[in-house]
Amino acid sequence: MNELKENPDRKWEPFPNQNQTMLSPPRMAISIENQRITVPQTPQGIPAPSGAMQEHDLPPELLQQGWRKFWSKRENRPYFWNKVTGESLWETPALKNQFDPITDPLGISATPGPVSLKRRASEDCGPAVKKFVLSGPWDLEVNTNIIIFERPHTIYTHPHPEIEAFRCGLASKLRQCYQELCHSRESIDAPKDSFNRWLMERKVIDYGSEPFLPSSCYPEISMSMYREIMNDIPIKLVRPKYTGDARKQLSRYAEAAKKMIESRNATSESRKVVKWNVEDTFQWLRKTVGATYDDFQDRLTHLKKQCQPHLTETVKKSVEGICLKIYHLSVEYSKKVKEKNSIMLRENGIAELTPPAPISMRKVWCYPIQFGISCPRYPVVDYIPERDQAILRYQGDTVIINSTHLLKLEHLYRYSCFDDKKFEFFIPRVWCLLKRYSTFLGTTSTSAESNDTQSSLPATVFECLNRMFGVSFECFASPLNCYFKQYCSAFADTDAYFGSRGPFLELKAVSGSFECNPPYCEELIDAAVKHIERLLADSSEPLSFILFLREGVEPLPPVHLKLDNSHYKRRQVVVPAMEHEYRHGLQHVLSKSELNVRSPYGTMVIWLQNAAGYQRWGPTEERVEALLDAWRPGRERERDRQELLSPTPHRGSQTTDVVTEQSSPSKHITPPINP
Ligand code: SAH
Repeated sequence: MNELKENPDRKWEPFPNQNQTMLSPPRMAISIENQRITVPQTPQGIPAPSGAMQEHDLPPELLQQGWRKFWSKRENRPYFWNKVTGESLWETPALKNQFDPITDPLGISATPGPVSLKRRASEDCGPAVKKFVLSGPWDLEVNTNIIIFERPHTIYTHPHPEIEAFRCGLASKLRQCYQELCHSRESIDAPKDSFNRWLMERKVIDYGSEPFLPSSCYPEISMSMYREIMNDIPIKLVRPKYTGDARKQLSRYAEAAKKMIESRNATSESRKVVKWNVEDTFQWLRKTVGATYDDFQDRLTHLKKQCQPHLTETVKKSVEGICLKIYHLSVEYSKKVKEKNSIMLRENGIAELTPPAPISMRKVWCYPIQFGISCPRYPVVDYIPERDQAILRYQGDTVIINSTHLLKLEHLYRYSCFDDKKFEFFIPRVWCLLKRYSTFLGTTSTSAESNDTQSSLPATVFECLNRMFGVSFECFASPLNCYFKQYCSAFADTDAYFGSRGPFLELKAVSGSFECNPPYCEELIDAAVKHIERLLADSSEPLSFILFLREGVEPLPPVHLKLDNSHYKRRQVVVPAMEHEYRHGLQHVLSKSELNVRSPYGTMVIWLQNAAGYQRWGPTEERVEALLDAWRPGRERERDRQELLSPTPHRGSQTTDVVTEQSSPSKHITPPINP
């Protein structure tokens, strides 16, 4: 590993004495040797810790429950690791009734019904051990019940601030260019969030090696981008508030349609039809007195129906041109990033990655993405703590994060990053992560504009999903919005250190219970449902997905038909609009008061389960009721209040002596010291 260039002024120090208070300091390690990952296997195909000699001098009952004794070189004392639950302890574990890891890896037959789902790792095997639980809208103590097929290391190189700054600069330029093209060619603003959706849609079919910018997609024209631009032509229609607005919108549409058909290369037939309909509308507007809101809306629907096919035909080539131009620019930018990255690797004496060797189809506990290449030297990134937030600065380029979320990242890093025990690379890596997400979201400020692609279920719903349905994993998340420490996310490279298992479509899950709240992007949702159905079909072990989809989208996306006919669909409920809340997509920068947002859409909750999954985590009346109850508006705020009042978090095991952290990072973060 290369040396970190020290910055004497601002340095990150993880929690002091962490090993005394954390329940699981000796983490599962997946070592990278000779640039190839070795996942040490137990006989059951479960990764075991490395770096310590295994000693089997434990009572047979403990051995049978999965406990092994290891020697911690760092601490110079023994510790105990449970290969079944992933728990680690300094003290000898207490003997408890437990399931057999070989015949029943998920503990399915141990205690039937929801009660067994409430069992927490520390309840199972813990003597009174001090445990550091970070309070917040997450529960990072839930262990995974997900088993996957082992996979090769990622093809991506470690993120690096210099490369990330360059990449994000180009991505922002691309976004800007998209806006300008929409404006200059079609006289509209780029449809809101459509660039973000384009990025996600492209990644469904991208075979390139660039983690962020689309670089190798076929077809080159994105249907999602095309559809969204077309939808706003000739003007973006919104639901008017008052009758006057409805009238105004009708005449604006007519004007814009006329202007478009006159100024563009339309066929004479199209020109004739559009002009005639526009003229007809104007006449109607002139002669009709006292028309109602509905009259104007009906008239608009009629006009649109008549004109839209002709307008679409007229601007088709031009809109396709925008999609192509943006895609080609993205390919060009990706090449530039790759070149710069190659130079940086060469300067660091790191050989480029060869394609990963094929890997056996072993079943393993789901573990975070691993890099197959060494990490380059990191430059200095300043860490500037403020009251409730922290600023990270690389060469004048600043990113911001709430202190609680920074602490959350630290916890995730401790659980999932195996190459930086001293946290020397933590701050540069957090900078890269925040830079990536702020560029992805197109947010330079902390304004509370809605950001639909990142909004998450409230913590109370996750708690319930875990308790009632054994959920331990989010199929769609980020290190910033995840509730569990194991999840899939869009960016395998920046997110890997913080527990990401990579993009969902690449996860080969065999068993376990999943929550699946995909961002609103039709193509991605479609691909995700196909993926889920394939996984369910291929596994006879308990597998369950609880899907959360936006209701009332017009026209109804084809995925709904697929879901209606799905062999694996066990139940569906709809939570009505305005009767439930989401957490804001920018939760890591907003203040508490802005976090809970009433949903303007209904949400469909759909249970997709194979037979064993249904038997284990089926949507019984009682469980579904509990879920709906947990989603009542205000539940998360109640939970926050309770958490503040109670000395121990109400979630999690109460059998352990819990030290709760209430977002005062100043205790743990060393403030800048002047040399
Ligand atoms: N984890 C929260 C929030 C989900 S928001 C919840 O489950 O309620 C959807 C998340 O999916 C966003 O953070 C987005 O960045 C992420 N995402 C986008 N594409 C993805 C992909 N291909 N695989 C996994 N996550 C993805």
